[in-house]
Amino acid sequence: MLRVRDLKTYLYLKRGVVKAVDGVSFDLASGETLGLIGESGSGKTMTGLSLLGLPPKPAGRIVAGSIELDGRELVGLDEDVLAREVRGRQIAMISQDPMTSLNPVFTVGNQVAAPIRAHGLAGDRSAIDLAIHELERVRVPSAAERASDYPHQFSGGMRQRVVAAMAIACRPRLLIADEPTSALDVTIQVQFMDLIEKIQADTGAGVLFITHDLGVAASLCHRIAVMYAGRIVEMANVDKLYADPQHPYTRGLLDSVPILGRRQKRLQSIKGSPPDPLSLPGGCAFHPRCPHAMDICRREAPPMVSMPDGGQVACWLKVDSTA
Ligand code: SF4
Repeated sequence: MLRVRDLKTYLYLKRGVVKAVDGVSFDLASGETLGLIGESGSGKTMTGLSLLGLPPKPAGRIVAGSIELDGRELVGLDEDVLAREVRGRQIAMISQDPMTSLNPVFTVGNQVAAPIRAHGLAGDRSAIDLAIHELERVRVPSAAERASDYPHQFSGGMRQRVVAAMAIACRPRLLIADEPTSALDVTIQVQFMDLIEKIQADTGAGVLFITHDLGVAASLCHRIAVMYAGRIVEMANVDKLYADPQHPYTRGLLDSVPILGRRQKRLQSIKGSPPDPLSLPGGCAFHPRCPHAMDICRREAPPMVSMPDGGQVACWLKVDSTA
């Protein structure tokens, strides 16, 4: 359904160029959930915004690559066409903070109805009926009455459900969920993850789940892509990746947090800090922090290598072992 190839999104700042997304490639099938994980600044959110054709303006620009949704190339499409036919209609996003997605001066019913009207799926009156139906779908209790309430009258968890109702109102093919649970209490997080699974079962949408929470990713995703410094460094089936990570950065991430069901000796942090995006280290960007760095790692970026089990990893250690 979604085919992304060699996507590059750069930010042109006064102080220099940030290669926020630097050659990202992946596929996503209908009904599949792909987790995008990594530290802050690794390019996860920028990848999601690029799929929507919304790199931050005026500094951000997609400079190369391809995004195909159901065979249609999206890179280079007119802004009008993106707004009318793609954004909110075929690709929708649930963001981290529901308050930034909701307008405090409109009722939630009107806000969920807005994309339905905007994409011409229903007239004024029936758009509200459909909005109530979507609020019921995301399990907002007494949806018909609560549709005339305002966002401040909802709890944080309920507001996130309203944002989810807005996102699925037009039955998008691709749902991008960007840290949707990070502002929620743990018990509400579990309910919201159940909800995403239900939405996916109902609509067959592919889900790109962006998170820094490895536990949440483990419970929700089918496959995981690990990002570092704007690139995917490892991608594999979720069970395989958590049981036997191949990239030193993935291993470091998994060793640094407790994960239910994963055998760990002692928690260990990755040494050093994420690199300055304005002056990334040459070669493999992880080399200053990597316990296995070799000379070639400082000179050349490793290619992505396909592993016999179907996973992919970008590390010179694996190039040697498969050569
Ligand atoms: Fe470490 Fe080299 Fe692999 Fe980078 S390419 S992760 S520096 S071993």
